[in-house]
Order: sequence, then structure tokens, then C-alpha cells
Amino acid sequence: TPGDRVLEVTGLRGGYGQIQVLHGFDFHVETGEIVVILGANGAGKTTTLRAVSGMIPVEGSVKFKGEEIGGIKAPDIVRKGVAHVPQGRGTLNELSVEDNLRVGAYIRDDDEVEADMDRWFDVYPVLRERRNQRAGSLSGGEQQMLAVSRALMSRPELLLLDEPSLGLAPLIVQDLFNRFAEINKETGMTMLVVEQNAQLALAVADRGYVIESGQISFDGPAQELMHDDKIRKAYLGV
Ligand code: ATP
Repeated sequence: TPGDRVLEVTGLRGGYGQIQVLHGFDFHVETGEIVVILGANGAGKTTTLRAVSGMIPVEGSVKFKGEEIGGIKAPDIVRKGVAHVPQGRGTLNELSVEDNLRVGAYIRDDDEVEADMDRWFDVYPVLRERRNQRAGSLSGGEQQMLAVSRALMSRPELLLLDEPSLGLAPLIVQDLFNRFAEINKETGMTMLVVEQNAQLALAVADRGYVIESGQISFDGPAQELMHDDKIRKAYLGV
């Protein structure tokens, strides 16, 4: 239901071995929202998504639909309905586009996998054209579409997107974000997006958080962040 907190994170701490990156902060995502996490390089954005999807051990509480998922193994978190599109996309280059999508559906045992594939081919027609091609032969933008579609094939309720714009030309990035907005509008898919391109991300987001050195320094409605002088100087290059 809209307004419900599909993701509720409190006192989040975590990092890599002895290195603590996340210094204990809270954030949440409501059903149907697009929430963006902004921050400088190395601030801890990627680490935050990894903590939510079970890729690193966490301290504190990560609740998905009211259930504690902190400490649960990553594949089990996917089964519960959280899909993570990692930075760098993580598509399987030697496999075809179709097979990448089937991999995305591995947790399912229903018979609607082909139908879902068709549905995402409607959103990303270029993937339909290239369904038998190796993923490695796709352009960067197409690989990002594939990575997103692959994640969607697990039928998530929460989609985590890590720097989808990385390495892509401005027009491609614009198109990518337009389609995130379209998917969100048409399916109500909840999205948590880490993004360097603050301008574009805030344009489609409902709310945003700014992470600085493993802490949240600012949060609010996307419109507010877009018009805040400090945020504009630091992240919007104005
Ligand atoms: P970027 O935009 O550069 O990805 P970020 O905000 O996503 O920035 P993180 O990737 O979360 O930042 O990194 C936060 C800190 O953790 C950085 O100091 C980084 O060097 C460190 N770090 C990231 N990954 C690892 C790792 N696998 N092992 C050790 N330290 C890491």
C-alpha cells in the first residue's frame, strides 16, 4: 500500500573487514517511491545498497515489508523481493540476451517467464531485436537495459539501482531515467537509486538522501534537494 515503508533501515553500520564505511544512519523507502541516494565518490552509496541486498554483513536493522532481513543471505533476499542491479551491470557477457533474462528468473518456478520477458522487451524493444546476441556484444546503454530487465525478471517489489548512468552518453542516460519513471508509473515498482548524475535522478525521484562519509547529511523531497543551495553547489555543479 502506498505510504507503507517497504524498506526501513535503522542504525546501519557496515563495511569491509576492519574498515567501517557506514557509521550508523537511518533511511526508508515507501511503497511506490523512487528514492535517490546522492553523495561524493567513496561516501558509502554502493556500500549502502550492498548492505540492503545482503552482499556485506551489516549491523543495525534492515526491514523489508516489516521483516528483518539484515544478516540473511543475498539469494534469500532476492527471493523475498529485492533485486539489485550492481554498479558495472554484472550481465553475463558470454550468454545471450534471452539467457541473461532467464538467469534473472532463476528463483521463479511459475510459467510466466516468457510472458514477462515479452513485457520487458516492450519497454526495451532493442533487447527484443538482439535477443539471440551475446550480452557482451551490446552497447553500454543496452547492457544497462539488460541488467535492469534481468533484475525485473525476478519480479521484485524493490529494485536497487547502483549508478545506472555510469559510462553512458547523456542522451542514453536521459532515456534510461525516463524509462525508470515509466516503469515506476505503470507498475508501481519501488526503486532505490544511487546516482552521481544528481540532476537527472532528482528529476524522476520523489525523495532523496545525501550521504557524506558514511552518514546522512541531508534528506528531503527531491524538489527541495534540487533547490537547496548547498546541494546545488556540491552535487548539481551550479
Ligand atoms: P563511488 O561512487 O566511488 O562508488 P560510493 O559512495 O558508492 O562511491 P562506496 O563504493 O560505498 O562509495 O565506498 C565507500 C568506501 O568503502 C570507500 O572508501 C571505498 O574505498 C571503500 N570500499 C569499497 N569497496 C570496498 C571493498 N570491496 N573493500 C574495501 N574497501 C572498499
